[in-house]
Amino acid sequence: MHGWSLEWLSLCGSRDWRPAMAELNSGREARRIPVLEGSCHCGSVRWTFNGVPESATACSCTVCRRYGVLWAYGYDGEEVRVSGETRVYSWDDRELGFHFCPTCACVAFWRAIEPDPQGRRRAGVNLRMADPGQVAQIPIRHFDGYETWQAHEDGRRVADMWF
Ligand SMILES: [Zn+2]
Repeated sequence: MHGWSLEWLSLCGSRDWRPAMAELNSGREARRIPVLEGSCHCGSVRWTFNGVPESATACSCTVCRRYGVLWAYGYDGEEVRVSGETRVYSWDDRELGFHFCPTCACVAFWRAIEPDPQGRRRAGVNLRMADPGQVAQIPIRHFDGYETWQAHEDGRRVADMWF
């Protein structure tokens, strides 16, 4: 049995998982919001996502379907924060960079290569890097990025996609 199996099993069986919380200072009031955390398998690339994503996007485009990723979207330095050295894959117009761990090869997040006119950079974190209990109930948004660019939801959640 691998060293991480017991921890993993206890997370899967947990019905009362409670997220890490962060102070969000908005105006005069600080409110507490959940923080999702993800890391690659070896632990050197990490991300956090402040708040609970509305959905987890499963995309059929040429790259996402190969990676098998589930994305939660945000902006770098806002709800999304990343750390650790990565290698980056991009192609064609080099609009997006897909960041993966040079040691264990997990695809941890993508980020726009150039900031938008407001100086913000779109980003998406791969929810498969999170502990299962953190993300199990997030609805899946099926996005046909290969042909139609249409999205739909069918009631499935991340827990239904995991195995
Ligand atoms: Zn790694």
